[in-house]
Amino acid sequence: MAQLEVELVPALRDNYMYLAHEPESGATAVVDPADARTVLDAAKRKGWSITHILNTHHHGDHTAGNLEVQEATDAPIVGPSYDAGRIPGMQVELMEGDTCSVGNATAKIFHTPGHTSGHIAYWFEDANVLFSGDTLFALGCGRLFEGTAAQMWDSLQKLRELPDATRIYCGHEYTRTNARCALTVDPNNQKLMEYARVIDGLRDAEQPTIPAQMGMERETNPFLRADDQALAQAMGMPGADPVEVFAAVREKRNQF
Ligand code: ZN
Ligand code: FE
Repeated sequence: MAQLEVELVPALRDNYMYLAHEPESGATAVVDPADARTVLDAAKRKGWSITHILNTHHHGDHTAGNLEVQEATDAPIVGPSYDAGRIPGMQVELMEGDTCSVGNATAKIFHTPGHTSGHIAYWFEDANVLFSGDTLFALGCGRLFEGTAAQMWDSLQKLRELPDATRIYCGHEYTRTNARCALTVDPNNQKLMEYARVIDGLRDAEQPTIPAQMGMERETNPFLRADDQALAQAMGMPGADPVEVFAAVREKRNQF
């Protein structure tokens, strides 16, 4: 039952990089190094040596620090095989169903296309930790740059199967805007109203809203609820196909 200690490392405007430390072995992964200097400094402050560089997808705000972190640490660069050629320095290629170990902690890999065609998520089951990149955000999901609504809805359905206690570490701090948009989509959801108040409190205090929890997201994130009749009703689309409801919610967020 290997645990993971996860350190949030803010980068750029609203990105999160993560350090995931497995205490028994001392192994430490950096997830999505947008900015090498910042994450190397953070690891040094913690007294952790980076042993793995994990990428969720090829976008520069998740991979720009790969080569510099590798130069400083000799850690292998790991990412989606679907993105071969688009991830700087990738040496270990992962696909749906593969596993990836950081010390004694092992992640199952989900292919989650939609935001990008090659996007993957890392689920450390024993540690209850999901690195969801730009697929699943707290109260949101990634924009559809390289995929269809149907693909993203499929990807999110895989992730929402994970246990309630799963802590979700996503690629960006978009939660307050996502919450405001979600309230317009789903105005009568009591749980969402309570959650939105908590989020406002955290952001007013300049605190991160991450990690989110799967149990709460499943009840409040409109992008996980496209097949819920209450949401379809609220969108004025009773009986519509979940993919259509999902696409309409995504469009609402794009315009928000
Ligand atoms: Zn992205
Ligand atoms: Fe991003």
